[in-house]
Amino acid sequence: MDEQTEIWQEIKSQLALSYDESSYQETLESIDSIFKVQNNYIYLIVENDFVKRRIELLYLQKMNRLLENFTTDTYKYKLITREQAEQELSSQKTFSPADPEEAFGRQDLQSNLNPSYTFDNFVVGHSNRLAYTSAIKVADQPGVVANPLYIFGDVGLGKTHLMHCVGNYILEGDIHKKVHYVKADHFVEEYVRLANKKRFDEFHEQYRDVDVLLVDDIQFLAKKEKSQLEFFKLFEHLHSRQKQIVITSDRSANDLKDIMKRLTSRFLWGVSVDINRPDLDHRIKILEKKLMAETSDKSLIPGKVLEYIASVFDNNVRELEGALKRVLFFCTAFNYEFTVKNAEIALESLIQPRNNHHDHVKTKVQNLLSVVSDYYHISTSDLVSKKRTRNFLYPRQVAMYLIKTRFDLPYKRIGLYFGNRDHSTVLHSVEKIANDINQDRNVRIDVEKLTVKCGES
Ligand code: ADP
Ligand code: MG
Repeated sequence: MDEQTEIWQEIKSQLALSYDESSYQETLESIDSIFKVQNNYIYLIVENDFVKRRIELLYLQKMNRLLENFTTDTYKYKLITREQAEQELSSQKTFSPADPEEAFGRQDLQSNLNPSYTFDNFVVGHSNRLAYTSAIKVADQPGVVANPLYIFGDVGLGKTHLMHCVGNYILEGDIHKKVHYVKADHFVEEYVRLANKKRFDEFHEQYRDVDVLLVDDIQFLAKKEKSQLEFFKLFEHLHSRQKQIVITSDRSANDLKDIMKRLTSRFLWGVSVDINRPDLDHRIKILEKKLMAETSDKSLIPGKVLEYIASVFDNNVRELEGALKRVLFFCTAFNYEFTVKNAEIALESLIQPRNNHHDHVKTKVQNLLSVVSDYYHISTSDLVSKKRTRNFLYPRQVAMYLIKTRFDLPYKRIGLYFGNRDHSTVLHSVEKIANDINQDRNVRIDVEKLTVKCGES
């Protein structure tokens, strides 16, 4: 018996204990074989459509939850009727490649999709509505409405999640579609690995047949000229065949650095959308959704507690999710009531250093601003103002550069110290100074002196 079958038998015996005997016998008992494992779905064969629907409605969620205990990767069960399975097998038999090498030579590329990232569990709000509707349109008509779809925004805001939604949705409609998800840094590694062995063709062959290509965190192509060139060729190949491409990034295509212009300009051919930080209401909705995925008891955690968690973790959704899991674990493990007080205790170790760190950074930044304004003999309020004369503009850019290099804050957050400047203004300033340091001796001296002064104070 293979591993998946063994796991299924084990899960089946657990299910037998959870449900009444007659429902179990009518639905789950007769499932014995696994049809195939593909794209992280494990296909179980059921007798007919009626049983299929009944299981999907009543048991599938529980089956998938039990499965999580057995596998480290994310797998999910999917049901297929005996008839569908037979049809699929017979259609494969009639396929005989002209070149037998073809059948074995080219490996089937795995989709790498995470089946738990679906549109159903992506919570929509003001900050991500445009990205969400664009993704739905693309998933519905791949290659037609927006190619490429370019999604950008800060870390932990749901870019990867949304990208997987597109892939999963397309596969849901047609399991024969070749959908492939790859992180850009992995793309580079893979290219280097095969290029070292001079197997360039093999690299290209891997990707040329995909119907949908999802490339995550494209900024990691920076400075990797050869990989960029390879990706450029691939992009042209797929785009000209109307194959859908979805790209995510931590910044807009215009702001990408050290990536060839002819590539970044193509990213603007389709539709570009950003995702921002969710507001309080949106965060609460996300928590409610995440809670439902963990437990079927919707009222397990009172609204007040969710609101509390959402009010503290306002930066990104990954942290928000982590906080919820911690509270859940803390209260269930010790059998405590779900109260704001207990949530506070559960989250203490996350919140305290976070607050301290925030306060600490804030003081340091304010200090830095006064050091820089003293140095240039201007007032701090002029330094952080929007006045565009050179005697304010240049010191302001230097200040932004110093904040970024010393504290590595997100660009948006740096913008808050300067009358709420946007992400891209700050990014440009930081990059301008980074560039000027290498070209202009005076800038270098300024930055060096200021670095010492800020370090001292
Ligand atoms: P990014 O790729 O932008 O860094 P991810 O897609 O990895 O962010 O999201 C981080 C976590 O937050 C994931 O677990 C994801 O499911 C969750 N998440 C982000 N946005 C949403 C949303 N709108 N609805 C539900 N979950 C979300
Ligand atoms: Mg991501």
